[in-house]
Amino acid sequence: MKADRFVHTKRKPQKPQKTAEQLDARNGKFNFSEIHGFKLKEVEWTVPDKQTRKRRRSQFNSVREEFLKELGANHEDELRAMGLKDKAIDMIKKGHAPQGYNVHHKLPIHGGGQNVFSNLILMPIPPHDDLHHIVMDPQVAQMQSGQSKKVMIPWTDDMVYHPEKDKGLVMNNAKPNNRAVMAKRMRDGR
Ligand SMILES: [Zn+2]
Repeated sequence: MKADRFVHTKRKPQKPQKTAEQLDARNGKFNFSEIHGFKLKEVEWTVPDKQTRKRRRSQFNSVREEFLKELGANHEDELRAMGLKDKAIDMIKKGHAPQGYNVHHKLPIHGGGQNVFSNLILMPIPPHDDLHHIVMDPQVAQMQSGQSKKVMIPWTDDMVYHPEKDKGLVMNNAKPNNRAVMAKRMRDGR
């Protein structure tokens, strides 16, 4: 048996099939409504041309600095609630992001997002990368400049991440395999 198994592992690995879940994610269908305290929201995602994207990314360098100074000046309580100490807060007041933190575009530049404070949030990495890898990337991976489609993005009005709001993935209650629904069916004798 062992030798047989060894032979199998030496065969050229097949490209893994896309799971139903991955296909759903590509179509913006998720079995959760909230991720890390961000609620899924449908927006029109329009990919700007390459030059516009490049210009906005370089403009972002100065906007990020202004955004961080604003957080340092007026959102210190939220920064401390995120676990940041004096040294990190001093950095933020000077316009620098502390190590392990990222200023995220809620609607990314790739989707037509602007460098405005209401579109930005300071948050730790992780969980930042999950917003891209789990929610947005699968939906927009194939999109080219000028293309436009409806996309689900993780949204919050906050400008600073709130750890106490982060419940990981909050699953849809409407799902028939939801635990509460199953329990009700049992009680109803269905
Ligand atoms: Zn991001």
